[in-house]
Amino acid sequence: MIPENIIDIKSASSDQVCLDLVTIEKYDTTGPRYTSYPTAVEFHDGIDCEDYKSAAIDANGALLPRDLSLYFHLPFCRHLCFYCGCNKIVTKNQQKSDKYLEYLFREINMHGELIDHDRKVQQLHPGGGTPTYYSVDQIEMLMNQVRRYFSLVSADDRDYSIEIDPRTVGYQYLLNLKRLGFNRISLGVQDFNPQVQKAIHRIQPESQTKDLILQARSLGYQSINVDLICGLPKQNQDSFATTLDRIIKCAPDRISIYSYAHLPAMFPAQKRIHEEDLSEADEKIALYQMRCKRRFTGFNPNRKPGI
Ligand code: SF4
Repeated sequence: MIPENIIDIKSASSDQVCLDLVTIEKYDTTGPRYTSYPTAVEFHDGIDCEDYKSAAIDANGALLPRDLSLYFHLPFCRHLCFYCGCNKIVTKNQQKSDKYLEYLFREINMHGELIDHDRKVQQLHPGGGTPTYYSVDQIEMLMNQVRRYFSLVSADDRDYSIEIDPRTVGYQYLLNLKRLGFNRISLGVQDFNPQVQKAIHRIQPESQTKDLILQARSLGYQSINVDLICGLPKQNQDSFATTLDRIIKCAPDRISIYSYAHLPAMFPAQKRIHEEDLSEADEKIALYQMRCKRRFTGFNPNRKPGI
């Protein structure tokens, strides 16, 4: 027997998701985002450059893990999405982004000198911002620089993934990313609904996203991920269900659904979102319930699941 304050979501399988309303009400407040470990707020001056260097060198001697995961932050975007809480720079000034790449190359050099070259890079991921803000030639330069200092691999079980803004990429770009060694892509979508897209200042035609998924599939990418956000302005259960159903029909390998965190004091762009357009807590719960149900019942079982 499930207590009254628990919402029970039964699925087609035996899986079950229970939401405790008392706990949800208790924590229905703003809090830090937890997208990396350690979180940004944990960084402090108590550990200096020499500490970092000796820890990195010592790690070469550790028995496990030997394999490496590399992340490159490419923070530039051409347009501002109002919901964005990422560390990004919105500019059309190419000089700035070129300069950043120079610094990044120096940093790759400095890190590469600390790490044993026989350690294989099993996972690699440029994220942003919008990595595809850069031209194919620049992404190729980046990969060449990484290859100079680290051991990249070509085995099928590598995870070389890149974040893609479908508004910036076409077939030729995708083809080149494949040639450069990427075997996984992640597409930012958020919502197909035109009213939601207008409210978040991210106009992205549905056909553009669908075409790109088809093209990536035809090129043999091993994993295609789609990012959606629930709790955006103007979103409701019906509109989000439509977006979810349409995305599921595109059969990506993974759908990541994030919850929108409205923190305008921390992210000034969010001040441009009208608070009256945002979902109340109960609507957000309903959206959450819906995405859990879709997760259990909606995926194409023939697809290899993403990681
Ligand atoms: S959501 Fe992505 S594309 Fe939009 S501003 Fe933020 S980092 Fe750039």
